[in-house]
Amino acid sequence: MTKRVVLLEEGTAEMKGLMGSKGAGLAVLLQAGWPVPAGFIVTREGCRAFCTRLGHLSTEEVQEIGSAVRHLEGQTGKFFGDSVAPLLLAVRSSEANSHDMESPALLHVGLNDVTVEGLARQTNDRQYALNCYRILLQDYGQLVHGIPYTLFEEKLGDLSFLDEAKLEFAIAEYKQLIEDIGLHPFPQDVQLQLKEAIRAVSHTQRASRLNSQQEPGLQTTPRSGDHQAPALIQVMVNGEQGERSGSGTVYSRHPGTGERGMTGEYSASAASQTQDEGLGQLRREEPELYDLLLEACSYLENYMGEVQKIQFIIDSGELYLLLISPACLSAKAALRCTIDLVHEEIITKADAILRIEPWHVTEMLKGFSSGTPELQLLLEWSDEIKELTILSNIDHPQDAVTARLQGAEGIGLCRTEHMLMSASRLPFVQKMILADSESERRRGLERLLPMQQFDFEQIFEAMDGYPVTIRLLDLPLHELLPDLGVLEKRREWLQAEEPQEKEDFQIELEELERVIRRVSELHEHHPTLGQQVCRLSTVFPEIVDMQLEAIFRAAVKGIRQGWWVRPEIMIPQIGHVHELQLLRDLVDHVADQVLGEEKRHCLYRVGAMIEAPRAALTAAHIARQADFFSFGTDELTEMMFGYRRHESEKRFIQLDTDSRTVTNNPFHVLDIEGVGQLIEMAVVQGRIRKPHLKTGICGENVVDLESITFCHRIGLDFVSCLPAQIPYARIAAAQAAIKGQRERANTQNADISTIA
Ligand code: PEP
Ligand code: MG
Repeated sequence: MTKRVVLLEEGTAEMKGLMGSKGAGLAVLLQAGWPVPAGFIVTREGCRAFCTRLGHLSTEEVQEIGSAVRHLEGQTGKFFGDSVAPLLLAVRSSEANSHDMESPALLHVGLNDVTVEGLARQTNDRQYALNCYRILLQDYGQLVHGIPYTLFEEKLGDLSFLDEAKLEFAIAEYKQLIEDIGLHPFPQDVQLQLKEAIRAVSHTQRASRLNSQQEPGLQTTPRSGDHQAPALIQVMVNGEQGERSGSGTVYSRHPGTGERGMTGEYSASAASQTQDEGLGQLRREEPELYDLLLEACSYLENYMGEVQKIQFIIDSGELYLLLISPACLSAKAALRCTIDLVHEEIITKADAILRIEPWHVTEMLKGFSSGTPELQLLLEWSDEIKELTILSNIDHPQDAVTARLQGAEGIGLCRTEHMLMSASRLPFVQKMILADSESERRRGLERLLPMQQFDFEQIFEAMDGYPVTIRLLDLPLHELLPDLGVLEKRREWLQAEEPQEKEDFQIELEELERVIRRVSELHEHHPTLGQQVCRLSTVFPEIVDMQLEAIFRAAVKGIRQGWWVRPEIMIPQIGHVHELQLLRDLVDHVADQVLGEEKRHCLYRVGAMIEAPRAALTAAHIARQADFFSFGTDELTEMMFGYRRHESEKRFIQLDTDSRTVTNNPFHVLDIEGVGQLIEMAVVQGRIRKPHLKTGICGENVVDLESITFCHRIGLDFVSCLPAQIPYARIAAAQAAIKGQRERANTQNADISTIA
């Protein structure tokens, strides 16, 4: 049976899942001989009982917690609920908070109207004891009943001096407030206090909701299904009284900059408070304790392999390590510390890479477009490990330069239509499309050819040594045509002119009539399902001819300059293998004509962009004609879900995400279950036909760790993304490879042990 209660001295680092990271860390420290207040953990399993059975504990659970408390009584010589020597407990969540916020805690649990007097006698300080009781009431009211702090503060008035009379008044008022709003009086029964405290801190979602403004009195019943954290219960250590007392927090390295060496703060207790506070004071006044803290930092960091945050208390010259947790670091500090820990041989390069999160990379790229030296080094390490090739999608030649700087190992998708649709070029494209004869069309294209050639020359130069995948024109026809409404308006205007002027406009009017006729002829009711992409190329082969000629002319020029040029011609939105075959023949024909002598230096490839589900389903046939497959997952997602991205995102995807019909927006994160499954199947089918078929994804919805891990797992060769996404994609690809290697090693070990 899973353990419900674990004493700190019984815990191990491996029990982190059961005990929570704080509890497991303290257990490690305690066993290594470090001064840690005695305590125990009510595990996640134990805490679950509070929520699933509306707070009723079974007799065995009550006994287990009771015997852990008795263990603490034995260690301290104090007794829980005793009027003479009361044992007081601190109850906290044992899970580290990812945002470095203090996790909810209840201190001085065990105080009531009787034991508070025992504490007063024990410490010889009634004012201190009353204040502890006041703090317990306030925290209890807030955490257990959701009563905001402000309501307690309003009861106190001037907080600068709290004498005994004022504290007694506050205690009475606080108790009343709890009874009024919480609907139950504050329990004088210390066992009930402890149970409520454990329940409150273990309920992390509830606790975090309490941090924000909420209605008082509404949080008493945890919802089933909410997350339960283990609870850490420790003997209270008093750092607020006496000559050599105080409390502080240290980090094993600077959490903002990552600089080596202990840093932090210390505040001495009121009695010995001097103007000169902080760690410097501690180093001067208590050098041994300071050295002990230094040692604790380095021990813990070595053991945990992470920068540590330690909260400590000094009680009459005795140091106690109260809480430890991994430090929350800035992006800069996270990268620097990770690299330093590798150089200090505390962690491996692979461990370092696994720690990098997307926000670290985004933050580092905000200030420095190519990243800091730390990021660069981590990227180099990632490149040594990753198996996926990271390519870039580009819309213009200058993007190729940026992509190279970000570490792209080639171009995975060059969208040529973006170049042709620029304001200076579109009129030539339109002229060509609207021409009545082939010879006229060719004349229009002659003006475009040198422009496209220059585009490709620039890209080949930027990508010297790397493959460049150029997608032939991928547009629905209507996007290339002039607007019919605008043309008709102009015709109306011309026709309304006086007969005299009309004559002057006669030539324009005739041309307008012709263009309107041609645009009407080409009009389609469903343009995005009509003469588009590769179908358009079969209707207007001159455009593709021109593009191919521009590519191969640029290649010849590049080769003669001494560049390594590898064009990969991508045919968009293939649906049937015959479409690919037709266009492939055209590519080979133009290549033969243009490359001439240079053909042996220009090993071009021809591949299929797979966006239509039919192409994926017939991958084995398509592979006959393709040197590579590139999945356009944006459009493949649209076609598989049966809705267009822009409309769906405007109207219902967000709603669906909230109501969890679709758990992620499939245009942001690959739908592995559906689209992913089809891709995997197509890759397998394609490789049965052609074992060395190059495969990858050029849609822009795969640059998150889960999608990249999927791409790695199914053995894709590349992922192509926007230039700005390349650095993180390189890291994610390495993370996917490391996880894959570790999983394989675990499976092998398991197999070996099964055989043994
Ligand atoms: C795609 O559909 O995934 C794709 C990359 O094509 P586009 O250029 O239309 O984004
Ligand atoms: Mg597309």
